[in-house]
Amino acid sequence: MADWKTTNTHLRILRDAEGGRYGVIAAIAYNIEQVHGLIKAASTARSPLIIQFFPWAIDVFDGLLIRAAAAAAKNADVPISIHLDHAQSEDLIRRAADLPFDSIMVDMSHNEKEENLRKTAHWVQHCNERQIATEAEPGRIEGGEDGVMDTAGLEACMTTPEEVDEFIATGVDALAPAFGNVHGEYGPQGPRLDFGSFQNIRSSANGRVRLVLHGTNGFEPELMKQCIAAGVSKINVNRLVLDDYYEHLYTSAGKMPHTKLIEEGIDKVVQLTVKWMEICGSAGKV
Ligand SMILES: [Zn+2]
Repeated sequence: MADWKTTNTHLRILRDAEGGRYGVIAAIAYNIEQVHGLIKAASTARSPLIIQFFPWAIDVFDGLLIRAAAAAAKNADVPISIHLDHAQSEDLIRRAADLPFDSIMVDMSHNEKEENLRKTAHWVQHCNERQIATEAEPGRIEGGEDGVMDTAGLEACMTTPEEVDEFIATGVDALAPAFGNVHGEYGPQGPRLDFGSFQNIRSSANGRVRLVLHGTNGFEPELMKQCIAAGVSKINVNRLVLDDYYEHLYTSAGKMPHTKLIEEGIDKVVQLTVKWMEICGSAGKV
């Protein structure tokens, strides 16, 4: 392992989680209130945390939000890493690799497999040269989310054990397998995950990469615990920790001073995030 990989905050957080059999919340943030609330939650719960952004955040704020989050993470009294979720354009990856990310998801899953593997290997090397860890998606997770390319026109495919090997060969540090999970909202039946297929993926990974769960909107605590027991260590969340924040915004905007709206919004993020850190078992671990 390259030296920087032993000290990279993101990789350290995930190694500790896998060793300790708990899950670390990797929460998408859209603004500074959410970034601040997530960090406050981690500090309150004594939990590690991953703050992640969609490429949308780079498009809209240029590097401002990322730099602010990275500075706050560095000053926090618990380990916090900054990750870019679903970087699907090569131009964007090039831009992002010069921002203070600890990790970037190089998502070439909208390409055919050979192309996907070739491009993944190239961008993994580009990121690694800047001491940035990487994540990739073997197979194809269904659905799209906030500027992440919708794969509805493409066939979703479950990750196979062979693909796990092929992706590990590109040098990625973490894999987000497709095993019935879906981006965005699950239909009326709710999530239907294939844990048998997940176990084959995990055996194939055999501790060589960390495993990431994508698509958790609407998850019940029990299902989350089942996924962590099965071996995922990075838990991507979006609505799970932000629902109360949006509810507060919709019901209180225009009915209280803007300053109070912001402050109470931060508190909503803190409370719901602490709850999920307890569910995922990361609370009290640092
Ligand atoms: Zn995802």
